[in-house]
Amino acid sequence: MAQLIDGRALSKKIQEKITKEVASLKFRPGLAVVLVGEDPASQIYVKSKERACRAVGFYSEKIVLEKNIAQDKLLTVIKKLNKNPKIHGILVQLPLPKHLDEKIVIDNIDPKKDVDVFHPYNVGELCLKKTLPKLDDLLAPCTPKGVMRMLEEYKIDLEGKKAVVLGRSNLIGKPIALMLLAKNATVEICHSRTKNLAKTSAQADILIAAIGKANFVKKTMVKKGAVVIDVGINRSKQGLVGDVDFKEVEKIAGYITPVPGGVGPMTIACLLENTLLLAKK
Ligand code: NAP
Repeated sequence: MAQLIDGRALSKKIQEKITKEVASLKFRPGLAVVLVGEDPASQIYVKSKERACRAVGFYSEKIVLEKNIAQDKLLTVIKKLNKNPKIHGILVQLPLPKHLDEKIVIDNIDPKKDVDVFHPYNVGELCLKKTLPKLDDLLAPCTPKGVMRMLEEYKIDLEGKKAVVLGRSNLIGKPIALMLLAKNATVEICHSRTKNLAKTSAQADILIAAIGKANFVKKTMVKKGAVVIDVGINRSKQGLVGDVDFKEVEKIAGYITPVPGGVGPMTIACLLENTLLLAKK
C-alpha cells in the first residue's frame, strides 16, 4: 500500500510557520482578491482564501465587481491596487467572464504584486531558472509550488528520476514541469494529443496528474512504487475526485496524494507563502 502524502497536515504546518513570522513583522502583509461576477465555485475559493489570510494575521481586501463590468473599469481597479501600499499581493480570481481578456488583465498586475505568478515577467523568471532556490524564497504559481513542497516534505529524490506530467496548462502542467526540470528530474509532458500516454505514464518514477478527468489514471498506467501526485479536482456523483483512480493506484504506488486533502490545501498555503514573500521584498 502506498504511503499517503497528507496535504492538509503540511498546509497546516506551513500556515503555523507563517502565523509566527507575521507576528514578528513590523507590518501586515496584505492580499487583495478581485472577484468578478457570482460564479459559485469562485465564491467558495475566494471565501477560503480570505479565511486563510485572516487566520495567519494578514490584511485582506475582497473586491467584488459586477459580472458585466467593462474591461477598462476592471483595469482601473487593478491599477489602484498596484499603488495601494497596504496591498502586497493581488489575485484576480479566474476564470473571468468571457467579455474580459484574461491576458490583458494579468499583464496589468504589477509583477511585484503578482501573487498567482501568472504575469509574463514572473513566468519568464521561473522559466530561466537552471536550479531552484529554497522554496521559501521562490515565487512560483501556488498549486505547482504546493506540489514541490509535498515532494520536498516527503524527501522524494528527484535527481535523475523520470517525471511524467499529465497536462500542459500554463496554470499547472507547464510550471510543474519547469520546476521538476530545475530539480534535475528528466521530464516528459503528456497532453490530449499524446500517443501511447499510458505507456509513458507507466515509466514514471514521479507521476503528476493534472488533466481534469475523473479517475483517468488506472493502475496499469503506474509503475510499482511510483510517487503519484493528483492535482485534479473533479466533481462527480461520489463527490470530489481526482484524476487518479485512488482505490486502484494506492495498491501499487509508493506514495500517493488523496483528493480531497492532498494538493488542494497546499494551494492556499502557497498563496499565503507567496503573499508573505512579496511583502518582505
Ligand atoms: P486545463 O487548463 O483544462 O488543462 C488540462 C490539460 O490536460 C491540458 O493540457 C489538456 O491537453 C490535458 N488533457 C485533457 N484531457 C486529456 C486526456 N484525455 N489525455 C491527456 N491529456 C489531457 O486544466 P488545469 O487548469 O491545468 O487543471 C487541471 C486539473 O487540476 C483540473 O482538474 C483542475 O480542477 C485541477 N486544479 C486543481 C487545483 C488544486 O488546488 N488542487 C488548482 C487548479 C486546478 P491539451 O493541452 O492538449 O488540451
